[in-house]
Amino acid sequence: MSKLWYSLSVISIPQWARDSIQKECTNFLWNFGSHLVSYKTIIGEKHDGGLKIADIYLKMLSFRLKFLAKHFCCNKDFLWKHIFRYFLSKIQNLGAGMEIFLLQFKKTDLEGLPQFYNELLCAWYAIKDYIIVTEKENDVFNYCLFFNPKVQRRNKMLNWKDFISASITHVKDISYEVIPGFLPISCIVEIFQEQNSEVNVSLITKNYKDLLLSIPEEWKNYVHENEYKRTCFQPNFDISYRDQRIVFQSGTVQIFYNLLVQKMFQEPVSNIYWRDKLDMNDKSSIEKRWETVWVLYKTPDITELDFKIFHNIIFTYEKLFKIGKSDSKICPICMLECEDIMHLFIRCKELAEFKNNFVIYHLESLLKDCESDVFNRLNFEEIFMTALHKGIKNVNVFFVNYFISVCRFCIYRRRQIFLQSEKKIDIERLCRYTLRHYISYNHYQLTVLEKKMNLFKKFFLHRNPLLKETEGILLFIF
Ligand SMILES: [Zn+2]
Repeated sequence: MSKLWYSLSVISIPQWARDSIQKECTNFLWNFGSHLVSYKTIIGEKHDGGLKIADIYLKMLSFRLKFLAKHFCCNKDFLWKHIFRYFLSKIQNLGAGMEIFLLQFKKTDLEGLPQFYNELLCAWYAIKDYIIVTEKENDVFNYCLFFNPKVQRRNKMLNWKDFISASITHVKDISYEVIPGFLPISCIVEIFQEQNSEVNVSLITKNYKDLLLSIPEEWKNYVHENEYKRTCFQPNFDISYRDQRIVFQSGTVQIFYNLLVQKMFQEPVSNIYWRDKLDMNDKSSIEKRWETVWVLYKTPDITELDFKIFHNIIFTYEKLFKIGKSDSKICPICMLECEDIMHLFIRCKELAEFKNNFVIYHLESLLKDCESDVFNRLNFEEIFMTALHKGIKNVNVFFVNYFISVCRFCIYRRRQIFLQSEKKIDIERLCRYTLRHYISYNHYQLTVLEKKMNLFKKFFLHRNPLLKETEGILLFIF
């Protein structure tokens, strides 16, 4: 992708090409099948339920914003900055400088502007919610009267071609130069008559009155009290980023991209599903569980299953029936109840023995040292279908989540084997074997290959009554 990013940073790529590359990438991600999680979710951070899939359009906008940050940097004067300013001043013939960034144009208003600069303004509008503008009081004279969200008549911005072609575009154009105050209507008519002697005076008078009414009160007060001084309009733009205020010039492509993704990101719909299903009132605990999906030392197939469970995208028989892919929604193993996700992983009668004698039994010993009020608040279904998040005293939270993930994986594996071969595997044996196998693998990887015994101790042995190690040999107490 780096070749694409480089090209995007310097040239424009047509929308159809961007869309087609993006489509290929997303289809590849979903193995050319149906897209199970919304695109606006998977572009998000992994700890929010996304997959951090790069969005080509937003990446392009971030490169444009970086270009703009370089432009705002006054230290160096390059030829390209003059060319850029020339094109900006030509937009709608406003002759605007930096104040152009306070205006709001529609796509059609920017026709004729080279594509690269067009994208630059689109990028600016996309990030505008995060921009903090610091203006000086005497900037009032430099403000533009048209396409300005602050100058509105009947809730609409003004766009008066006749005023613009008479070069009346800024507050300074309707103000006296040596004394405070706005020009009288006679002067305005004169300016119009310099261009065209046959002007409709009554229309200009009406429009000028309207214009003065549309200007914000504080601007009017300032003009009435102060003389016009020729100044260069140089506002300070800052970005509000993760509770910090950053000078726009020092913004990086990554910061701009993160902000654009944050704006587009859609919270996983499954957050609401699980909150209702498990009756969880604490919004943060349902959101924090996403972090536990991507922890190290889990195998990719377990991580994938956790991701799918948390997103509620497992194809249970209830779902297959709903989309017409199955004649029945009854659980194929117990043949008693509808197989929804809770039935598949917890409530199936065939799982009762495993659940009580293995999962709950060992969970109780893993959680035995946690404070009694925490223990009493823990609900089995909630722990089993989500995850514990950090901060439970005297508990190896990593291992509890690891243990739960492996148990869920074995339940799912056993079901898949049954669907393929109709064989009912001993779930407890499968789970014990899988746990031992994966723990041994991590033990070998961390202690023998990477020589990081401390990490193995921290994640697997610390406060773990199910596992002991003596002289490099693992002892499984389950
Ligand atoms: Zn069942």
